[in-house]
Amino acid sequence: MAQNGTSVSIQDLSLSFGVVTVLQTLNLDVAEGEFIVLLGPSGCGKSTLLNCIAGLLDVSEGRIFIKGKNVTWEEPKDRGIGMVFQSYALYPQMTVEKNLSFGLRVAGTAKDEIAKRIARAAEILQIEPLLQRKPAALSGGQRQRVAIGRALVRDVDVFLFDEPLSNLDAKLRAELRVEIKLLHRKLQNTMIYVTHDQIEAMTLADRIAVMKGGIIQQLDAPQTIYNRPVNRFVAGFLGSPA
Ligand code: ADP
Ligand code: MG
Repeated sequence: MAQNGTSVSIQDLSLSFGVVTVLQTLNLDVAEGEFIVLLGPSGCGKSTLLNCIAGLLDVSEGRIFIKGKNVTWEEPKDRGIGMVFQSYALYPQMTVEKNLSFGLRVAGTAKDEIAKRIARAAEILQIEPLLQRKPAALSGGQRQRVAIGRALVRDVDVFLFDEPLSNLDAKLRAELRVEIKLLHRKLQNTMIYVTHDQIEAMTLADRIAVMKGGIIQQLDAPQTIYNRPVNRFVAGFLGSPA
């Protein structure tokens, strides 16, 4: 883990939809190169928090810094983040190669640079044979590799994952879990990964933020949370059976 400083800093972040408060004065510092998992039951605010970091939702209060820069009101594309969703969100009419290059073409990246980055991502994710196929001709696992590749080619500082493996069967989930772990070792970038799956959290995270009702209940290394949960909720959700 290459920890040179703070990568993402969330300061007193609150978010309400109308009168309903979903995130409450939340604070979280993620170190550079750290793999943070946001873990909690459905509806606890994980996706909302991730979408605030990505800039897909406007915060009600608070500030978000990425690499020391206040990005609270920056456009998503200017934040240096790449996001991978559960639903893949690939363009169905485009080949894998076009899906990978789309964002770079829009940004005006030079053709040979695009080709270089696609070749590298395709090699890392082992999707070279799939480049001329369309998403409909791919398995779920292959689609998710392409979705990860789209963040990879953009050379972002921070990867955000929102339950990327939830649509896959158990065997593929286990396989991709290992691949994501290896990817992180290789890239050494910051990853913020949302899941409700305890095993994913335990195997992937440097630190786990256990959430309930829009509040981080505990932020610690997996073993610490497992052995010393701070309250009954955390114990019930992740702690060792007493
Ligand atoms: P999680 O990802 O942990 O399952 P979410 O962040 O999606 O949870 O949702 C947190 C809470 O906010 C839920 O109670 C959900 O119903 C509510 N919520 C999410 N998005 C909206 C929205 N656009 N409008 C109103 N309420 C929302
Ligand atoms: Mg969610």
